[in-house]
Amino acid sequence: MRKIILDEKDMPRAWYNIQADMPNPLPPPLNPATGEPITPDMLSPIFPMNLIEQEVSTERWIDIPEEVLERLLMWRPSPLCRATSLEKFLGTPAHIYYKNEGMSPPGSHKPNTAIAQAYYNKVAGIKRLTTETGAGQWGSALAFACNQFGLELKVYMVRVSYNQKPYRRMMMEAWGGKCIPSPSPDTNAGRKYLEENPDHTGSLGIAISEAIEDAVTSKDTKYALGSVLNHVMMHQTIIGLEAQKQLAIAGEYPDVVIGCAGGGSNLAGISFPFICDKIHGKDVRIVASEPTSCPSLTKGGYVYDFGDTAQMTPLLPMCSIGHGFIPAPIHAGGLRYHGMAPLVSKLFMDGLIEAKAYNQLETFAAGIIFARTEGFIPAPETNHAIACAIDEAKKAKEEGRERVILMNFSGQGIIDLPSYDAYMSGKLQDYALPNEEIQKLLKELEQYPKPR
Ligand SMILES: *Cc1c(COP(=O)(O)O)cnc(C)c1O
Repeated sequence: MRKIILDEKDMPRAWYNIQADMPNPLPPPLNPATGEPITPDMLSPIFPMNLIEQEVSTERWIDIPEEVLERLLMWRPSPLCRATSLEKFLGTPAHIYYKNEGMSPPGSHKPNTAIAQAYYNKVAGIKRLTTETGAGQWGSALAFACNQFGLELKVYMVRVSYNQKPYRRMMMEAWGGKCIPSPSPDTNAGRKYLEENPDHTGSLGIAISEAIEDAVTSKDTKYALGSVLNHVMMHQTIIGLEAQKQLAIAGEYPDVVIGCAGGGSNLAGISFPFICDKIHGKDVRIVASEPTSCPSLTKGGYVYDFGDTAQMTPLLPMCSIGHGFIPAPIHAGGLRYHGMAPLVSKLFMDGLIEAKAYNQLETFAAGIIFARTEGFIPAPETNHAIACAIDEAKKAKEEGRERVILMNFSGQGIIDLPSYDAYMSGKLQDYALPNEEIQKLLKELEQYPKPR
């Protein structure tokens, strides 16, 4: 079978919450001022209570509301494809499957949670959302979702990306969202940075500060985050739940499940249902593929760290290279986050997830191979998962074993073609973050407790 399409009636009707099955519970987020755990009501100025409840829930299954299902059905269930041309090209006995999340309207897995978050805000009486975006994938997904539920949206987009990458801003505007460059004159935080430097190029940390300030000071407004948080990981599990049904139709079970990892949400989405199997005795490996320029799992520490550069958020227990990290300008913008979702971090520390880091050039080489065999041009982030899947397929060839590889194709790369252009004309380079640099960034966190 080249691709396995589920009937609409077979789309999962509940999300899987891995907090019900983890061998060790997740350490709580902490208030940086007191070192005490954050209580749900402390988060209520930022998020609606229904999402805060999901964030701390330990129920195994949470029903997907009818109005969310209706929207997800616009592009789901997503196809599970067998990469037979890639297998042939590699001469591998491995079976490579990829779950194509690039078919959603914004072109990635992100609307799986954007739709859910917009819905829960809507039913909580919220009229308007704010968020930040780097390269624009999250901003465009949330603009699509807010439009579906009649919410207003304001996106603070890092100024350098706003100027260099206009297409996702145009997508946001096509869906009715408002997108402005950050730092902006619209918030106290933004004005402060603009006074220092009117041409400030911005950063994700500043954009987060602006979006949160806007949410807590505006009427009927909340803030939305596209990765990292527990409820975001849970909304993405529909990917892995569908893949389980599709592989069963093909009569297969994966030896290895692979996802690229920035904040951790697409990896969580494809892998958490399989980690549940693993916890209950199945033999399956899970591999996170990250960039060498931002190696939070392979080289980071397991620490309590801030979620953002500006230290506005609670302390989160995560694998991190430190919130002071200034990312190299690699083209996989979605993988440049200093930390990793607390759920993914804990499962990594408990040995249920492995990690591998790849250089920028080898990931683009893998993306080109994929485009020239399977046809789809992947997002630069997705290329990390493909590089890892190709490695696994080569290992299978060396061992002469018929390994089954499942990979998440987190998004398509049509809007990222300038990055491919830079790669093909020899303008891209590798960046590896030196160990000394990471140790320096982590040193600042020694004043905070250690998560266990
Ligand atoms: C945002 C993004 C990622 C990285 O985010 P995660 O939360 O780690 O999934 C990966 N791939 C694509 C296509 C993205 O847009």
